[in-house]
Amino acid sequence: MTPPLHPLNPNGLDPNDPATRDALQARLRFYRELGIGEFYRREVDLSVSSTAETVAEAPPVVVAPEPPAALFPQFQETEIAPRKPFPAAPPQAPPVPPEQHFAALKLIRDEIGDCTRCPLAAGRNKLVFGDGDPNARLMFVGEGPGADEDASGVPFVGRGGQLLNNMIQAMGLKREQVYIANVVKCRPPANRTPEPDEANTCSPFLFRQIDVVRPQVIVALGQTAVTYLTGEKRSLAAWRGTVHPLRGTKLIVTYHPAFLLRDPNQKKHAWADLQIAMRELGLTPPVRK
Ligand code: SF4
Repeated sequence: MTPPLHPLNPNGLDPNDPATRDALQARLRFYRELGIGEFYRREVDLSVSSTAETVAEAPPVVVAPEPPAALFPQFQETEIAPRKPFPAAPPQAPPVPPEQHFAALKLIRDEIGDCTRCPLAAGRNKLVFGDGDPNARLMFVGEGPGADEDASGVPFVGRGGQLLNNMIQAMGLKREQVYIANVVKCRPPANRTPEPDEANTCSPFLFRQIDVVRPQVIVALGQTAVTYLTGEKRSLAAWRGTVHPLRGTKLIVTYHPAFLLRDPNQKKHAWADLQIAMRELGLTPPVRK
């Protein structure tokens, strides 16, 4: 017998079905990359169904008009816990001489060690620290490792990484000339967005990497990167198109390559963002042959 459909779930989707869960996660990620980040999940009140059936079967009665909230108490908003404030970023570390950048990054990596400071350690294969020139003028910051990165220990090596390489090349640079790191260094399960506790636990290491490399320009790739770099939650549209000061560098915000793979129409807007970075770095794009 087909189970009755719940009035709040008329499509009959089972949230415990892995395929449904993956589809929901992909949709939420898409919205988040667009800058729509506030979603709340509420428990479904199963009494709504039986109440509706009871009302349908009951003989008609005359009732005095009541305010809508009292007529539909089951639809009243439950109280939402206030967002945890972002912890303050650690103070900027003193500059390190350029010839010591490599060693200083290695010290940070050694300090992270076989990290179990947050729950992401449980599902990781390889910790993804960072990659590139320790003296880079340009740094890219992404959200966290995906499956390919988790397997290799190197950031941005999958399809998104290939697109990032193309973006770097279009700027007239080689990947080896930039530095790349993520907000979290271990892969979140099923590539979900890192939880605030995970991102806030891991991001101090990112700030220390930034303070060592001291790039002139940081390009934040996507909503999660800019949120945890700045400690401010705004839509991506509110961040893009402008240069923002950050720890003595200039922060420019664009879309995450994974988002650009899903919506290639946005590539022209990402290119406009990269051109702002190029202007700040005094770069001109290579002439196409
Ligand atoms: S994500 Fe960061 S804080 Fe969490 S376990 Fe990995 S390295 Fe440690």
